Amino acid sequence: MGKKILITPRSFGAYKHLAYPLIEEQGYEIIENTSGRTLTEDEIINLAGSGVVGIIVGIDPLPARVLEACRDLKAISKYGMGLDNIDLDKAKELNIKIDRAAGTNNISVAELAIALMFSMARHVPYVSNRVKEGCWDRVMGCEVFGKKLGLVGCGLIGREVLKRALGLGMKVLVYDPYMKDDEIFNNPDVDRCSSVDELCRESDFVSLHAPLTEETRNIINKQRLELMKPAAILINTSRGELVDEDALYQALADKKIRGAAQDVFSTEPPDKDEKLLKLDNFILTSHIGAYTREAVERMVLVSAKNLLRMLAE
Ligand code: NAD
Repeated sequence: MGKKILITPRSFGAYKHLAYPLIEEQGYEIIENTSGRTLTEDEIINLAGSGVVGIIVGIDPLPARVLEACRDLKAISKYGMGLDNIDLDKAKELNIKIDRAAGTNNISVAELAIALMFSMARHVPYVSNRVKEGCWDRVMGCEVFGKKLGLVGCGLIGREVLKRALGLGMKVLVYDPYMKDDEIFNNPDVDRCSSVDELCRESDFVSLHAPLTEETRNIINKQRLELMKPAAILINTSRGELVDEDALYQALADKKIRGAAQDVFSTEPPDKDEKLLKLDNFILTSHIGAYTREAVERMVLVSAKNLLRMLAE
């Protein structure tokens, strides 16, 4: 039986002509995700239970039971950066190698974070919807110039947001306990925060760029939302689970903070009756952070090369 590779991300298809020849010339047969959506655990087991040595995976779930059931699996190549959908301990135990497509989508996600910041600062979606309903009224916004942007997590994406924020004349606060001394702190407009509480208290905009881990789950909770300024705006392009969504709803409904804009949600897609979606001061986009022509092209090539390298080692 030939060796097979499962490719789950839907957007892979847009640039598959770049990656398929590389994979096929190594003698692998390709299994595509034809469902048009993220695969379920059982669907992955059905497709990859036997003969699949490598998976290029998006946000499809790879918990312990799936990894155990995929008995020929040797390597997982993440088509992106967040590894929270993979049971890393089980993968280690089973000697399954893992790599991620570092440096492929950081500019795209950073640009979306900045776009969401402006969208909220100037109420762009709300005002546009009002105009389409026939109302030519105005809502007063705020400038971002001179404001403080707090970054929770300052890795590849956080750094791109930081650069852009400095270009906009903002001050930047950084909370990232795993960052060593870094030249970014030589800039007088960049300061390190020693706690998330301090960052929430001081920032006009808070933007989340940390991975989902047990430490970061609900890192923005009721108590921290209460520390934030009444005019503060929360931006989340990382993972929905970083924010306690019930607490966020209450803070937005009670106008404890001015707004929140997210590209991610705890359940994607959210339930159509989700209460946050009914609020005018909440924006949600459909996990489009890395969904640009440029990032998708890079993710396709890098994730394919990462997988082939791991399988050849
Ligand atoms: P990265 O690994 O380069 O950076 C993550 C940073 O978070 C690191 O500097 C790390 O030290 C820091 N960190 C870890 N634990 C922390 C904690 N407890 N508190 C504060 N900081 C902490 O990853 P990246 O490329 O910058 O991506 C960040 C996250 O963005 C990913 O894990 C993923 O969840 C998300 N993401 C979303 C999209 C999207 O489409 N919306 C696309 C790519 C990545």
